[in-house]
Amino acid sequence: MATIAFPVERFADIRTPFYYYDTNILRQTLDAINTEIKKHDNYFVHFAVKANANLKVLKVINEAGLGIDCVSGGEIEQVLKAGFPANKIVFAGVGKSDWEIELGLDKNIFCFNVESIPELEVINEIAQRKGKVATICFRINPNVGAHTHAHITTGLAENKFGIDMQDMEKVIHLAQEMKNVQFKGLHFHIGSQILEMDDFIALAHRINELQDRLEAQGIHIDIINVGGGLGVDYADPQGNPIPNFKDYFTVYEKYLKLRPGQTVHFELGRAVVAQCGALITKVNYVKENAIKRFAIVDAGFTDLIRPALYDAHHRIINLTAESSLDPLKYDVVGPICESSDTFDKDILLPKTHRGDLLAILSAGAYGEIMASLYNCRKLPEGYTDEELR
Ligand SMILES: *Cc1c(COP(=O)(O)O)cnc(C)c1O
Repeated sequence: MATIAFPVERFADIRTPFYYYDTNILRQTLDAINTEIKKHDNYFVHFAVKANANLKVLKVINEAGLGIDCVSGGEIEQVLKAGFPANKIVFAGVGKSDWEIELGLDKNIFCFNVESIPELEVINEIAQRKGKVATICFRINPNVGAHTHAHITTGLAENKFGIDMQDMEKVIHLAQEMKNVQFKGLHFHIGSQILEMDDFIALAHRINELQDRLEAQGIHIDIINVGGGLGVDYADPQGNPIPNFKDYFTVYEKYLKLRPGQTVHFELGRAVVAQCGALITKVNYVKENAIKRFAIVDAGFTDLIRPALYDAHHRIINLTAESSLDPLKYDVVGPICESSDTFDKDILLPKTHRGDLLAILSAGAYGEIMASLYNCRKLPEGYTDEELR
């Protein structure tokens, strides 16, 4: 099986920290997705571009034929620049601004995923002004929990996302009376980094219930969008670089009861790009005190915020040092003066020196795109293996 490959000799001239993307891993991941969805002529995957909006990465994803899931006007602009056709764009988001709705209408995107009645009214009004009809799905909050970090569950009643199930018929009837929106289906998204297939099974069951309810009232839908959320193996990215797409798609194949003519849409972000990317950082100092040994690197949470924000663990390897039989314990920390600027604690690395390059693995999703300018730091660049050959 492929593992991410590091052309370390080519890294010498590049300013650290930077993101490195292995397009071989990315292409194999996309192939694995396509192998599964090609078994169904009504399955469509939209890459959730909020996970990674690097143009070079997006071009590879576009070549593989995936559609796109956007959550902002800026993302719509970026994916159009990357060459994605507008008619493969779905546009979600709990707080779409008027200009973003206008952009979606002007570009004739595939579908707006609508999260409230006020939003429905605004879309109808703007579409009317433009003499257009917006295709819409309603994002329904399925009240299905996901066994993941509290900050990244989205499908519970307490979360801010979507429309409550009990209001489903009401909003559909409202939409059906409007002239400038066309109601097409339902959208769901229960959270992220989900590894328990039972969570997706629970969602499929919930969708079946809702469909039965709609059918009893003579309401037919064309589109079922189940969102994304499939997780990746952060603990062993090298042993497990390609997520288990077979199990994931099989859940929906087995449990989701479709009516004739329906299409199923998936919005995968993390699972597509996490494992092809790494943050490459240089060790500036090694410092020891009575109880700790620190590797102080030139990357901080401004470059990769997941450990600080979600307590996320990323595997870290030393690309420079010879692997050794008796590794030492290090806290790998950044230069920013906040204690949360720590990538990991008490991890084993071969004896590490100033100047060594470390790779923080599984950083292709929610990495580069979440970088910030805090401390007037520079935004990290992103490079692919193809550029560095
Ligand atoms: C974030 C998001 C996704 C992608 O989630 P992943 O966990 O990266 O797969 C899909 N759909 C919506 C609506 C989202 O907000």
